Amino acid sequence: MSTPPRSVTILGSTGSIGCSTIALIKEQPALYHVRALVGGRNVALLAEQARELRAEYAVIHDEALLGALKSALKGTETTCMAGRQAVIEAASIPADYTMAAITGAAGLEPTLAATANGRDIALANKEALVSAGDVMLRVVKKAGATLLPVDSEHNAIFQCLQGNDAQDVEKIILTASGGPFIRADLEEMRRATPEKALKHPTWTMGAKITIDSATMANKGLEVIEAARLFQLEDARIDVLVHPQSAVHGLVQYRDGSLIAHVGANDMRVPIAHTLGGHQRLATKAPRLDLAELATLSFEKPDETRFKALRLARQALRAGHGAPTIYSAANEVAVESFLQRRIGFLDIAEVIEYTLEKLGAPAIESLDAVLHWDAEARKRAQSCISKRDRPVTRRADVSPHI
Ligand code: NDP
Repeated sequence: MSTPPRSVTILGSTGSIGCSTIALIKEQPALYHVRALVGGRNVALLAEQARELRAEYAVIHDEALLGALKSALKGTETTCMAGRQAVIEAASIPADYTMAAITGAAGLEPTLAATANGRDIALANKEALVSAGDVMLRVVKKAGATLLPVDSEHNAIFQCLQGNDAQDVEKIILTASGGPFIRADLEEMRRATPEKALKHPTWTMGAKITIDSATMANKGLEVIEAARLFQLEDARIDVLVHPQSAVHGLVQYRDGSLIAHVGANDMRVPIAHTLGGHQRLATKAPRLDLAELATLSFEKPDETRFKALRLARQALRAGHGAPTIYSAANEVAVESFLQRRIGFLDIAEVIEYTLEKLGAPAIESLDAVLHWDAEARKRAQSCISKRDRPVTRRADVSPHI
C-alpha cells in the first residue's frame, strides 16, 4: 500500500532555504502535496513555484502585489492572498510539514501559528526561537509539535544525539566558517563594505544571514538557538572556527567519545533530513571528498574582533528578554549597514547599546515578545540616527546603495 503524500507548507518559499526545499520536493513530487507557499515581495518567483507545484495557496506579504499574483496565477486553482494577516492565516492551515524560513522577526508569528497545529516544524528561522524562547517552546509542548532544526549545525547535533541519552552529553560544539573577515584586522573590518561582507567564503545564503555570519552574530544567535533546542546552558555550548565548513557540529559524551557530523556545505542535506521524516532522502547535493579536502582545522573564535558573539552569550546568560533585544537590535543594525548608514563594526556597537539600555525584561507572552522587539528596534534606530552614543565610524563608501 503506498503512503499518501505529505502535505507541505513553505514559509519563505522564494528565499534561499525556500528554493532549496522546493528543489528537493521537485525531485520526488509524488511524495508531497503543497498546501501553502508564502513569499515577501518576489511575486514572479512565488507564482512560478505555485504553478509548478500546484499549491493550494500562494501568499505574498506585500499587499500591493496581490493583483500581480492573481494575474500571474490566472487559470490555476491556487487561491491567492496577501498581507501580514494572510501570511499568518496561511501558516495556520494544517500541514504535515512546515518549513519556517522567513527571515528575522517577521517569521515569528507565522512560525508560531504553524507550530500551534502540532505537526513537524522545520525551523530555519532561528530568530523566532531566539526571540520568543520559552513562549515558543510552550506552544511547541502544548500543541505536541516537533521542532526539526534546519540550521546545518543544529541539524548536525540533532543527528549526533540520535540513539544516545541526553544525560550522557558533556557539551556540544557548533562550528563556524568564520566568514570573510576571519583573518582581517580591526581596521580592515572597520572599513568593510556591504559588498565585501556579503562575499561568504563557503555558503550561499540570503543577505541578512550572510552579514550575520561575517559579524558572527549568526553564531551568537545559534548558541542561543542551541541552548533552547537542546536545553543546555551557555557553558556547555562551544564554538570552534572551522574554515572548511565540512564538520557541522559535534557532541562530546561523558565516556570521552566525540561524535561529529561531516558533510558537504549544501543546505539541501539538512533540509532533506527534516523533510524525509524517518527516511533518508536521496539528494543531488555534492559528496564531500575528504582526501581532496585533506586538512580540517579548528580554532577558538576571537570574541574581541567578533564582539557580537560575546554579546550573544551575555544575552543568553542574562535570560528573560535579553535574547529578544539582541536579535531585534541586530536586525536593525544589519539593515542599516546594508543601507550604508553605519559601518561594519557598528553592528555590534548598536547591539551592545540596545542591550545596555533595555536589560533583560520579563517576557511571559507573545505580546511581551512583540513589545520588547519593537522597543529594541526603536532604541537601535535612535542609536543609529541620533547617534546618542558615538558609533565607531561610518564605512568609507557612498551613502546609498
Ligand atoms: P532569504 O533572504 O533568502 O529569504 C527570506 C524569505 O523570507 C524570502 O522568501 C522572503 O520573501 C521572505 N520574507 C521576508 N519577509 C517576509 C514577510 N514579512 N512575510 C513573508 N515572507 C517574508 O533568507 P534565507 O533563506 O537565507 O534565510 C531564511 C531563514 O533561514 C533565516 O532566518 C536564516 O537565518 C535561516 N537560515 C538560512 C540558512 C541559509 O543557508 N540560507 C542557513 C541556516 C538558517 P521575498 O524574497 O519574496 O521578499
